[in-house]
Amino acid sequence: MIIINGKEIAAKVRSALKVEVDTLKATHGVTPGLAVVLVGENPASKVYVRNKTAACIEVGMRSFQHLLPEDTKQEDILGLIRDLNEAKDVHGILVQMPLPPHINPAAILEAISPDKDADGFHPYNMGRLMAGAPSLQPCTPMGIMRLIEHTGADISGKDAVVVGRSNIVGKPVALMLLARSATVTICHSKTTDIRERISRADIVVAALGKPEFIKGDWIKQGAVVIDVGINRLSSGRLVGDVEFEGASKRAAFITPVPGGVGPMTIAMLLQNTVTAARARAGISK
Ligand code: NDP
Repeated sequence: MIIINGKEIAAKVRSALKVEVDTLKATHGVTPGLAVVLVGENPASKVYVRNKTAACIEVGMRSFQHLLPEDTKQEDILGLIRDLNEAKDVHGILVQMPLPPHINPAAILEAISPDKDADGFHPYNMGRLMAGAPSLQPCTPMGIMRLIEHTGADISGKDAVVVGRSNIVGKPVALMLLARSATVTICHSKTTDIRERISRADIVVAALGKPEFIKGDWIKQGAVVIDVGINRLSSGRLVGDVEFEGASKRAAFITPVPGGVGPMTIAMLLQNTVTAARARAGISK
């Protein structure tokens, strides 16, 4: 069994991006810039925004933080997004979720210009993903695909089970696996035979947010297991959605929690911003 080291793979992605950003600056005078909008004081969101900003700076990109008070009106956030859509030095826009209850998240996401949609959540980009057309894609699913590719495992023709059907993880990763010709099953809270389905899966993506829900002895020998879940136990320990110890005895490749999918998400956000900057400047790779 091999533990997929997401931290190390993400660091390599960031190093490659730094080279790409330096080249873009030197050859085209383009410095990719990411604007991050945070509304309110959610402590976890503040940490995410800080980490995203630090990662931008590490690879030589520009970072613009917009920290708005909890009671900011929806129309004011929409106004800021309109300005960021127009801003020449902003190539990617991200609005940190969750938003306060008086804000409609769909209205906010749909206001972001699809070509600056660094998170890949705009319905336009989701539709293009569904249609198999090039688009800015959601970051966590992109990171998951990179990790699977990194194992060298063949995806085509394999049975993949995705547990979870959210718009940010489950659904898009299922579409990406399908695009790579896996035979994909999506399980959710109403699925009655998750254990049987997982026991036949060559690739398991667990994104349900339930600590150690997927037991080690459900995993097929030789499977690739990607654990997206991040759950904090009352003891303070972080665990994934898969019982790691048991699963690691059967899987050929498995991600740890923490240090698996998490670090890839921010790396893919940077990647999307660079992709958006290239597209705007009309520079192909
Ligand atoms: P959501 O809560 O939006 O979705 C959870 C999904 O899991 C739903 O589709 C739900 O089904 C399904 N589900 C819940 N309980 C069960 C169950 N008992 N059996 C089968 N399916 C179930 O979560 P997210 O997709 O946003 O996140 C999932 C996990 O991934 C969380 O732990 C989150 O913290 C983590 N995460 C990690 C990221 C990273 O960077 N590493 C990024 C994003 C998320 P139904 O639709 O029927 O309700």
